[in-house]
Amino acid sequence: MASNRSLLILPGDGIGAEAMAQVRRIIAWLEKNRSLSFELDEDLVGGASIDAHGVPVTDAVMDKAFKADAVLLGAVGGPKWDNIDFSIKPERGLLRLRKDLELFANLRPAVCFDALADASSLKRDVVAGLDILIVRELTGGVYFGEPRGITTLPNGQRRGVNTQVYDTDEIRRVVRVAFDIARARPNGKVTSSEKANVMESGILWREEAQWVHDNEYADIPISHMYADNCAMQLVRNPKQFDVIVTDNLFGDVLSDIAAMLTGSLGMLPSASLGAADANGKRRAMYEPVHGSAPDIAGQNLANPIATILSFAMALRYSYDLGADADLVEQAVQDVLAAGFRTGDIMQPGMTRTSTTGMGDAILAALDKRAA
Ligand code: NAD
Repeated sequence: MASNRSLLILPGDGIGAEAMAQVRRIIAWLEKNRSLSFELDEDLVGGASIDAHGVPVTDAVMDKAFKADAVLLGAVGGPKWDNIDFSIKPERGLLRLRKDLELFANLRPAVCFDALADASSLKRDVVAGLDILIVRELTGGVYFGEPRGITTLPNGQRRGVNTQVYDTDEIRRVVRVAFDIARARPNGKVTSSEKANVMESGILWREEAQWVHDNEYADIPISHMYADNCAMQLVRNPKQFDVIVTDNLFGDVLSDIAAMLTGSLGMLPSASLGAADANGKRRAMYEPVHGSAPDIAGQNLANPIATILSFAMALRYSYDLGADADLVEQAVQDVLAAGFRTGDIMQPGMTRTSTTGMGDAILAALDKRAA
């Protein structure tokens, strides 16, 4: 049967390929055991693409990314490409994908797996059971606003300028993503975060978020919180939140705070979503938060879980396969509960395993759950 679930796999550099190999095993398991089919394609991005084609992402790959239901990216970069021209650095490939696909909503879940609760820098009871998601606006705000630049004033002083700017539609579309996600979660609710006390763009953000709620999602609770308070509350009592939606700058900071509540980089997935088409399908790219980890690349040491959980997000948000996403996430939970750890999350008394060993354990956990 022809599949309508196309996935473009871009392993990239460093540990990207090793982690992605474990995802491919999980896809094969789902095809065999859950009667699903995926149309897979794989290509180059980052340093691997520079070596082959002289650019970090080719037009041909961009074309494939436009056509695919989802893109799954490993990681890009490494010392080999550190000193090449800025315009063709590996990261530029990533940025082009995000920009050209117009991925304006960045989703960063912060989930604390029970087995890892003691590894958090916060107390176990503050983080155990944590399951929140930050939606960060990704293509607007102060990182892109004009005017910007550094000028020299007549008195010899230098002035740096960036402009925080948001229009109605930019706010509404990302707030809608937050509400759509909240609607699909048990007891979903949205906290919108800005600085309406000191910024006009914050006042607009608050008014527009409230407008989206009142006119389109009145059944889902919304609250508003100043971003500085949100940062404090994330560390004091993160479980009060469910879905947080915020702008590009505050989202950059708040999503990193939330990520660190739950431990290692090797555990953190992300998704970036674009506008919905006539069928409600959004352009989407999924990628772990971590980089290419050149210090451990090629040694079968990388933790593949962040990449696997990124694929689980694709199951949930691009293919509408929530039950299968749950299954993969539960298998990861089972493996951690059974004590398997890659080096980055190793704790005393646990069983140290490799990248492929972690893949083996997750497949065994899937078999057990499916039995
Ligand atoms: P990094 O995330 O690659 O690594 C930071 C540290 O965390 C390293 O010690 C690494 O071994 C460890 N680590 C990261 N992921 C891990 C995993 N899955 N399992 C086990 N350990 C893991 O960040 P960095 O060292 O600052 O950057 C390395 C390269 O990656 C650079 O070229 C950088 O530009 C690039 N980078 C790419 C992305 C991306 O592709 N999205 C993001 C960040 C950095």
